[in-house]
Amino acid sequence: MAALRHSDIVGHVQLGRGGFGLTASKPMWRKASTSERRKMVVEEVRRQEEAQRTAKAVSLAKQGQWTRWEGLEKRKLDWRDLWGMEASNISFIIRATNDVLPSPKNLHQWYGEDPTCALCPTPATLKHILTGCKTSLTQGRYTWRHNQVLKRLAAVLESKRNAINSLPFKAITSITAPSAFIREGQKKPNNPPAKPEVGQLSMARDWKMLVDIGQRLIFPAEIAATTLRPDVVIWSPSLKSVYITELTVPWESSVEEAYERKKLRYTELAADAQQRGWKAKVYPMEVGCRGFVASSTIRLLKDLGIHGQALRQTIRSISEAAERSSQWIWMKRKDSCWAHRS
Ligand SMILES: [Zn+2]
Repeated sequence: MAALRHSDIVGHVQLGRGGFGLTASKPMWRKASTSERRKMVVEEVRRQEEAQRTAKAVSLAKQGQWTRWEGLEKRKLDWRDLWGMEASNISFIIRATNDVLPSPKNLHQWYGEDPTCALCPTPATLKHILTGCKTSLTQGRYTWRHNQVLKRLAAVLESKRNAINSLPFKAITSITAPSAFIREGQKKPNNPPAKPEVGQLSMARDWKMLVDIGQRLIFPAEIAATTLRPDVVIWSPSLKSVYITELTVPWESSVEEAYERKKLRYTELAADAQQRGWKAKVYPMEVGCRGFVASSTIRLLKDLGIHGQALRQTIRSISEAAERSSQWIWMKRKDSCWAHRS
């Protein structure tokens, strides 16, 4: 089945407060067969194109903003992804990506309504609601989203760490292993070469890991003394090697800025560790608040030996965590009380 590329899906702007047409037919979407769903998406895209042609009040400059984001991986949404999603989720991604959700600022532009944020006295763009509201920050809305993404990342890193630590130190060579079980007269099977261990973790078996979730992370004193609390620290005492990583869930066009800021924050700590004989690597990671995963995050995962299917699954999972949490923050934009989900 033909893939719907990111540009096909998110490049279409939905105007006004009408919203994604699929939202109204949510129960229908749930029951629809594959071909019916395909028809519905095509229909929706057509409808949006029409709306675009007839609307005059909305700035088209917004459309295609995402093509100028830097440091982010191209994102593919194919039919398979769409089938699994709720119509309201699809609607949110498309409209959030193009910044055409009915934020107070957009409603002001479209209908002259009050542009003020419901939580603080600032004009509320989508960017403000999702990443810049001081009240939201104080209430812990952004920390909650950050931790939702971090939990998924940490789970992947933890299972990688465990897998590496439980491997025999040297992969058994083909001379000593499977051929010993071949009976006489039996044909020797073509042993596939032992899968090479990839990733920088494969050099040791005593990896430890701390995550700044649940309980406050205290940086391992054997490496350096600091009050800084990175999100994840992975280290091997035998190798004297440490990975310091810090996750940010920024507005997509601020990804590079976030990267530089975090890199700078940990430079001194890395230098301290190096002075004590440790090899220290600082990995700032970003996952955009609308689900676009930064190249920096993928670099870390690959360096730690996460590839192929596992890498794709991880990207999808963290992207979904960011996007769903942002959708929740969006839905709660008018509630002065913050109640998060799990
Ligand atoms: Zn605000």
